[in-house]
Amino acid sequence: MAYDAIILGGGAAGLFCAAVAGQRGRDVLVLERAATVGKKILISGGGRCNFTNIGAGPSNYLSDNPHFAKSALSRYTARDFLALVEKHGIAWHEKTLGQLFCDGSAKQIVDMLLAECNAGPGRVEIRCSEDVSAVSHEEGRFIVKTQRGTFDAPALVLATGGPSIPKMGASDFAYRLARQFGLKVVEPRPALVPLTLGGEDLLFRELSGVATEVEASANKTSFREAALLTHRGLSGPAILQVSSYWKPGDAVTIRFLPNAPLGWLLEEKRARPSATLRAVLRESLPDRLADVLTERLGLPGDLGNVPDKSLRAAEDRLARWEFRPSGTEGFAKAEVTVGGIATTELSSKTMEARKVPGLYAIGEAVDVTGWLGGYNFQWAWASGHAAAQAL
Ligand SMILES: Cc1cc2nc3c(=O)[nH]c(=O)nc-3n(C[C@H](O)[C@H](O)[C@H](O)COP(=O)(O)OP(=O)(O)OC[C@H]3O[C@@H](n4cnc5c(N)ncnc54)[C@H](O)[C@@H]3O)c2cc1C
Repeated sequence: MAYDAIILGGGAAGLFCAAVAGQRGRDVLVLERAATVGKKILISGGGRCNFTNIGAGPSNYLSDNPHFAKSALSRYTARDFLALVEKHGIAWHEKTLGQLFCDGSAKQIVDMLLAECNAGPGRVEIRCSEDVSAVSHEEGRFIVKTQRGTFDAPALVLATGGPSIPKMGASDFAYRLARQFGLKVVEPRPALVPLTLGGEDLLFRELSGVATEVEASANKTSFREAALLTHRGLSGPAILQVSSYWKPGDAVTIRFLPNAPLGWLLEEKRARPSATLRAVLRESLPDRLADVLTERLGLPGDLGNVPDKSLRAAEDRLARWEFRPSGTEGFAKAEVTVGGIATTELSSKTMEARKVPGLYAIGEAVDVTGWLGGYNFQWAWASGHAAAQAL
C-alpha cells in the first residue's frame, strides 16, 4: 500500500497529526514502538488527562526561540481542541488556572483520537510494536525499516517525543534521527521535575510530606502554587514549574507566606508582644515547617524582646528563602524535556525541516516545552495540526 506520509510515534502529537491528515484525504501510516498507542496520555493528569489549558499562549512555553510556537498555537487553539472533546461527548471540568481535565478517564482522549483517525476520507493505518531500525532518504522518499518490514513515503513525521520517563519507552530517538539528517538539537534537560536538596538544605528533607503555598522563582520566573517537601528535596506544582527554568548551580528562591503584607512581622510584634516567632509562624504554616524555619532564623523568645531590625531581616528572609538544589530527579521523574530539535531548523508554519523537504518534527521532540497544566498537550495538538495541513 502506498502512503502519503509515515508518522513515527503514536503519542499525542503523532495520533492527532495522523487524524487531521487522514481527514484531509491523506493515506498515513503510524509506526509505534510500544504495544499500544498513547501511553503517556493514559497516565497523564493522574489518569484524567489535563488535555489543554484554556489560556494557552506562546508565553507559557520555553524555547530558544520564544516566537516559534506562536503560529501553530494561534492556528489550532485550546478552544478548537475543546470543541473536538465536546463533539465526542466527553465530559470535562476546569480544575484550576485554566487546566481542563476529563471528568471520566484519559482513555476517552485516546479513544477520541483513534475515532478521529478512522473518520477518513484518507486511511490511517496504525501499526504497534514496530521497532524502527533504520531510516534513509532516497530519491525524495523516506524509507523506514523495522523488524517486521520496510515502508516508504514522500513525507516522514518525527513524533517520538522526548526522553522523559524512559521506563515507559521514551528515548532520544527523535534527536538521533534529526542529527542523522543534519538538524541541530538544543541540549535536552529534564523539566517539570522535582529538585534534590543536599548540603545546608538537608534539614528540609526531614519535612517530607509537608506542603504549603509559596511563590517559587528561578531565573527571574516565578510561580505561585503549592510546594511539597520530599525525602529527596522539593516538589509540588510551584517547584515543578520553576524546575524548567532552573540550571545547575542556580538558586531557587521561595517566598513563604506569599499573601503576607509588607511589615507583617512588626505588626505581630505590636499586636502580640508576648507571642513567639514559632507560634506566629505555626498559625500560617504547617507546624514542622514553622519549627525548622524558626530554628534557622534563630530568634527565640517573645517577639516583644526581638529588635525591629532583626524582625525586618527575618521577614525579608522568609520572603526570599534561598535553596541551592544539588540537582533534579532526572529524566526518570521528569514530566517533560526542555530542549530538543532546534526550531531554527523548522518552519514554524508547517514544522517541516528547512534542509530536508518532506521531513517534519512535532510535539515534545521539538524545542518547545510547556508549563505544567495542559500546555504540553496543547503544543502536541497544535504542532501536529500544523504539520498535517502540509502533508
Ligand atoms: C506522568 C506524566 C503526566 C503528564 N501529564 C500531562 C498532562 O496532564 N497535561 C499535559 O499537557 N502534558 C502532560 N504530560 C506531558 C505530555 O504527556 C507530553 O508532553 C506529550 O505526551 C508529548 O506528546 P508527543 O506525542 O510529542 O510524545 P509522546 O506522547 O511521548 O509520544 C511519543 C510516542 O512515540 C513512541 N516512540 C518512541 N520512540 C519510538 C521509536 N523509535 N519508534 C516508534 N515509536 C516510538 C512512544 O512509545 C510514544 O508512544 C505528562 C507527562 C508525563 C510523563
